[in-house]
Amino acid sequence: MREFKIAEPQTADEVAALLAEAPEAAALIAGGTDLLDELKSGVSTAGLLVDLRGLAGLAGITPEKGGLRIGAMTRIVELAEDAAVGRDHPSLKEAALSLATPQLRNVGTVGGNLCQRPRCWYYRDPQVVCRKKGGFNCFAYQGRNKYHAIFGGSGCFIVYPSDLAPALISLGATARIGTAKGDKVIPLEAFYAGPDVDVTHENVLAKGQFLKSVWVPAPKARQKSAYVKLKERGTWDFALVSAAVAGIVKDGGLAEISIVMGGVAPIPWRLKKAEDVLRGKPVTEAVVREAAGAALKDASPLRENGYKADLVYAVLKQAVMAVVA
Ligand SMILES: Cc1cc2nc3c(=O)[nH]c(=O)nc-3n(C[C@H](O)[C@H](O)[C@H](O)COP(=O)(O)OP(=O)(O)OC[C@H]3O[C@@H](n4cnc5c(N)ncnc54)[C@H](O)[C@@H]3O)c2cc1C
Repeated sequence: MREFKIAEPQTADEVAALLAEAPEAAALIAGGTDLLDELKSGVSTAGLLVDLRGLAGLAGITPEKGGLRIGAMTRIVELAEDAAVGRDHPSLKEAALSLATPQLRNVGTVGGNLCQRPRCWYYRDPQVVCRKKGGFNCFAYQGRNKYHAIFGGSGCFIVYPSDLAPALISLGATARIGTAKGDKVIPLEAFYAGPDVDVTHENVLAKGQFLKSVWVPAPKARQKSAYVKLKERGTWDFALVSAAVAGIVKDGGLAEISIVMGGVAPIPWRLKKAEDVLRGKPVTEAVVREAAGAALKDASPLRENGYKADLVYAVLKQAVMAVVA
């Protein structure tokens, strides 16, 4: 394992300064459940770890501006067990409970989950220099691509692995980003960027910036939400395909609707065309099939992952039916 130094800043300004000014490659470390794997395998070559654990105010779930502020250092188990989250946002609770194992949820943080690196086996192999690591090829494109993207590939076909991200985006969450010039707040949906923007990163954080918290608006009247995750195994696993659906239930249908999928694209994937089909109609199996069909017009499955198209319909149906039930 490579040697690295650890910095233990006490304030958000110190974090931003350390990240911006470090002469060597620097990485933030929260719970370390993803980063330490990358360091041990040699995929990350960071020489400086900026430890977020000493910072006051980054952890915890608190009511704020008519919603909930969830600090980046909040542990996933705290999110899963929070009474207000369970009451107001069942999809978020379900997403938190569905991910990894109890041990990982005890250590892993919300910020780490939202900023974790992809699980693509070519990216995770230290011998392979793929496009995400500055190389010229995406080896998944013509190689083994059973678990890869069917939407938004654009030269790199990872899928973004976070379960929390689709749930939070469908609920209209915003992200608070710490920068050397103060905080900025953007929709969480805009926090993620595909390989067409910058193939080496999955989010818009610039050097020196970090995620401080996310904010979820309180549910509107008659708002319901659901998260459905299909996995290959009965035990812990990443999503093959998952769907987070949030909407206002009216007359057996959805007056407002937001659908975000995981496991299908390099970023959490919003299904706007499916939303358009579903909005304002009584939900039936035929309407859900039409909605999935509309979304799948944008899909480009690879050699081994055409099965994901069927899963898109299956998770969408389960999640939408759960919301209107
Ligand atoms: C066996 C296993 C199974 C898993 N299964 C699932 C699953 O089913 N679903 C799922 O969603 N996840 C899964 N994960 C991923 C797991 O949820 C993440 O490892 C964990 O959430 C990361 O949190 P952490 O605090 O340990 O992050 P760290 O490992 O400390 O950091 C992860 C990455 O995020 C960056 N980072 C951390 N905090 C911030 C911040 N505040 N701002 C900017 N960047 C930051 C780090 O630099 C690093 O690149 C699994 C992991 C393992 C090892």
